[in-house]
Amino acid sequence: MTYLLQALQARCGEFIGLRRDIHRHPELAFEEHRTAALVADKLEAWGYAVERGIGGTGVVGTLVRGSGARRLGLRADMDALPIEEASGAEWTSVHRGVMHACGHDGHTAMLLAAARHLAEQGSFDGTLHLIFQPAEEGGGGALRMMADGLFERFPCDAIFAMHNMPGIAQGRLVLREGAAMASSDYATVTLTGIGGHGAMPHRATDPIVAAASIVMALQTIVARNIDPLQAAVVTIGALHAGKANNVIPASATLELSVRALDRQVRGTLERRIKALVAAQAESFGVNAQIDWRAGYAVLVNTPAETAFAREVAVELVGTDKVTQQGPPLTGSEDFAFMLERVPGSYLLIGNGTGENGGAGACMVHNPGYDFNDDNVAIGSAFWVLLAQRFLAPKERAATR
Ligand SMILES: [Zn+2]
Ligand SMILES: [Zn+2]
Repeated sequence: MTYLLQALQARCGEFIGLRRDIHRHPELAFEEHRTAALVADKLEAWGYAVERGIGGTGVVGTLVRGSGARRLGLRADMDALPIEEASGAEWTSVHRGVMHACGHDGHTAMLLAAARHLAEQGSFDGTLHLIFQPAEEGGGGALRMMADGLFERFPCDAIFAMHNMPGIAQGRLVLREGAAMASSDYATVTLTGIGGHGAMPHRATDPIVAAASIVMALQTIVARNIDPLQAAVVTIGALHAGKANNVIPASATLELSVRALDRQVRGTLERRIKALVAAQAESFGVNAQIDWRAGYAVLVNTPAETAFAREVAVELVGTDKVTQQGPPLTGSEDFAFMLERVPGSYLLIGNGTGENGGAGACMVHNPGYDFNDDNVAIGSAFWVLLAQRFLAPKERAATR
């Protein structure tokens, strides 16, 4: 498959330029107006039927070839993060406090490079839907697009998405069948007691002591209620109460992040957290309120589609540059919702390890992060090959 890689390598300069342009103009969730317009204009110019404004700023470009019945969806995300950039790159963000710290600029550029190649030289038989979604970073852009009829208007037999990952050799493709990314739920616990003088605690009902006990009690859920062979995370990322050393405050709040790699474990975590908080609060005589917010679902890659993506990866870069079954991650991703509706697979592409002076090792969501432009060619070649194999003309499909 080196000819395909070479073909995309030859034209990747334009798309690296585009990637840097998007990087320079990052936009937060549901505000991706410039990025979406850029994507839609390019797709239209290359002959795609384009729908704008799906789920806010989402864009879908459709290309139909031949009479094949198969329909493929490829997804890229477009949003940036509220982080002040410190990458030192020449294409540093011009918007203060906003940056592409997760490489969604690169994901968009890779899918656009593939889009152009497929439009101009792609040989396939069927329907190709390129899905550019807003608000992956916690905003649930995938759900918004689905609520806007994404899969009714653009039915897909399978969907795929790719995310870069620092710390993995540049261009390495990592697949995984089954649960690959964690569910992510949030809760705010508000404890209400009776404030008073720090010198007379018996005349008050102290929510701080209750909060401290709840923080410790919640740690027992992962240790005592979850199968040791399963993954679960209960993090209390914020604990706020009080202002002065001699004042017992009337309230305390805790902010929780809760993750699991299994739907049942996810349910157990919610049940045990609510029960422990209620029982602990009761024991201290304070009132507890829990505002539970369900976030992203567990991302589960289906077996057949993952096996297919593996074959494509091996054909493109060779066995030694493909991890057939990588480890799951405790991060989360709203592509999980699309995979609840349509079979498919989500894979990683190594952003680099930083060894021998190489780029790409800085972690995503870090102010120093930057997408590795060497991946534009390889990532787009992967999309082209995957589309051509999935939508192969019939004689070819019969032998696959
Ligand atoms: Zn991210
Ligand atoms: Zn991301």
